[in-house]
Amino acid sequence: MKRAIYPGSFDPVTLGHLNIIKRAAAIFDELIVCVCVNSAKDRGLFSPEERVDLIRRVTEDLPNVTVDHTSELVADYARRHDSRVLVKGLRAVSDYESEIQMAMINAKLYNKLDTIFLYTSPKYAYLSSTVVKEMARYGADLSDFVPRQIIGEVERKARRSGS
Ligand code: ADP
Repeated sequence: MKRAIYPGSFDPVTLGHLNIIKRAAAIFDELIVCVCVNSAKDRGLFSPEERVDLIRRVTEDLPNVTVDHTSELVADYARRHDSRVLVKGLRAVSDYESEIQMAMINAKLYNKLDTIFLYTSPKYAYLSSTVVKEMARYGADLSDFVPRQIIGEVERKARRSGS
């Protein structure tokens, strides 16, 4: 059985992430979407538990997708879950450098671990969780950015944190 892990901050999950999740779930027998809370950029609009809950809501219809969070190194998490594949999404050439570096570090930490990259669907190439948070703070329409099931939740949270 081929099990892959899709790690990230997912603060919050966007339509770009969901596109990668669906495509990876079609390739692997099992996909674990893992909210990683150990990165320096993680200031967090949503708590790790809330992010997991949002991802669960938008992946309900994908039976081979499970959602989890961790504060350990992704390589350790992968080893513990007996997975040899990390999935990452690439938006632009600018993502490439840091992602390749991260892939090499992860392979150094766990030599059975490979990272595969799925290119973004062009319509989501501009999309990041940071953009979503910024738009939400200004009260913009989020329907092109996040799955409809969680729009209300993202709007409420951004309003509360912005005040
Ligand atoms: P961000 O905060 O920039 O949205 P994350 O850490 O949550 O990033 O992203 C997790 C993974 O998803 C990374 O591999 C990232 O490159 C990828 N990703 C993020 N947004 C998109 C998108 N719009 N299209 C494709 N992949 C994406």
